[in-house]
Amino acid sequence: MGITVIGAGLAGCEAAWQIAENGGEVELVEMKPEKYTPAHKSPDFAELICSNSLKAERMDSAAGLLKEEMRRMGSLLVPCALQTRVAAGGALAVDRERFSAMVTDKIHSHPHIHCVSRECTKIPQSGVVVLATGPLTSDALAAEIAALCGGGLRFYDAAAPIVTAESLDWDKVFAASRYGKGDGADYLNCPMNQEEYARFYEELVHAERAPLHDCDVRDPKVYEGCMPVEIMAQRGADTLRFGPLKPVGLRDPRTGHRPWAVVQLRRENAAGTLYNLVGFQTNLKFGEQKRVFGLIPGLENAAFTRFGVMHRNTFLNAPAVLDSTFQLREERRLFFAGQMTGVEGYMESASSGLLAGRNALRYVRQKSLLTPPETTMTGALARWVQFGGSGDYQPLGANFGIMPPIEPHIRDKRQRYAAFAERALENLADFMKENGWDSAAGQASPC
Ligand code: FAD
Repeated sequence: MGITVIGAGLAGCEAAWQIAENGGEVELVEMKPEKYTPAHKSPDFAELICSNSLKAERMDSAAGLLKEEMRRMGSLLVPCALQTRVAAGGALAVDRERFSAMVTDKIHSHPHIHCVSRECTKIPQSGVVVLATGPLTSDALAAEIAALCGGGLRFYDAAAPIVTAESLDWDKVFAASRYGKGDGADYLNCPMNQEEYARFYEELVHAERAPLHDCDVRDPKVYEGCMPVEIMAQRGADTLRFGPLKPVGLRDPRTGHRPWAVVQLRRENAAGTLYNLVGFQTNLKFGEQKRVFGLIPGLENAAFTRFGVMHRNTFLNAPAVLDSTFQLREERRLFFAGQMTGVEGYMESASSGLLAGRNALRYVRQKSLLTPPETTMTGALARWVQFGGSGDYQPLGANFGIMPPIEPHIRDKRQRYAAFAERALENLADFMKENGWDSAAGQASPC
């Protein structure tokens, strides 16, 4: 029995490939070129709609580790990226047209993949299906998915950046909840004096913003409810001090006084390794976020695991409906993959497609479904999808903060990340061996 994959983006192509390479039959349904989302422009599959960077390549980086794990698990997209790469320092960046053309060609010429060009407006009533229609899923299908998932489909227009706890200046930030309520450890506070605030404010209102796609400016009401910090700041020099940067109920233990303004950081995961900047939804360019938010005391050397972004995004409240195998709990024949599951980024989307595709085929063959160990980046991301963090579920890219810590703690960051990567690849090898996971990829030319 064939498996239907809907959406030939990063996740859908990887899912289709995994099924076909392992002997399954696939019908891959893509609405391009008949219909385009507001951001897609090319008729080819696996289109990179914004940056051409697939992020860092070093194995001791989260993004590099993810790509290497995928390569070892038999990814389609990683080898295509390596063959179409362009020079980009330590990052793996690709010639986007050649990359998409290569993926499209491989998919089209695969004997077990049958491509169909049409918009899918309904979830197929029968058979095993992988839904991989991405953050800009067309309206009719998005409504179907929302109905199926109990209204769990979410839309948001701006997200705040996330930083690692270890990159903060702990001599400046202090843990405390406003008026001492709740668990004080849930919030960290970056206190600003009047001069620091004035400088930050000036830079913020003049910082360069990222261009928006047409689809993002259709409904201005959404902006009001989820206003970027730089737009709120434009309303007046003190607006932020009476909004997200209000200092009331907080005292800086170093001075014993209430600061002029306070940026709060909210714990993002149970381990307390990641924090988001409360109220800092933003549409500033990434470099500007690093520069301007780096003026906040305590964030001078902050490492961003996610920058704030602003675009329409459709994703499931995955922890309520999906397992780490990317299977829908309520209807086992359905799998989801890609950005829609709440993983963020090109390769993260592809990695979920890789697992969803393999598991969809295992489901057809009545084999137990698989998730790689939580010590691998693919496994840690899959568990993020199943369990989420401590607050509202938000999309997340590859980062070491979601992996179990290394014991005993290694102080040097570079060495620690190298240890994470070494452990991950060892555990992945054991996992693949135990489960007879064949990989087409050899061990040569690692990312
Ligand atoms: P996509 O790659 O979007 O693929 C989904 C496919 O499904 C598309 O080909 C679409 O045409 C098709 N489709 C949609 N609806 C239907 C339907 N009803 N029937 C049939 N086919 C359908 N990530 C990064 O890592 N770097 C970036 O710079 C970046 N920039 C982004 C900019 C914008 C504006 C957006 C919206 C997202 C951006 N992302 C970026 C996130 C990016 O979308 C994902 O990383 C990745 O493309 C998601 O992969 P996917 O396979 O889930 O979806």
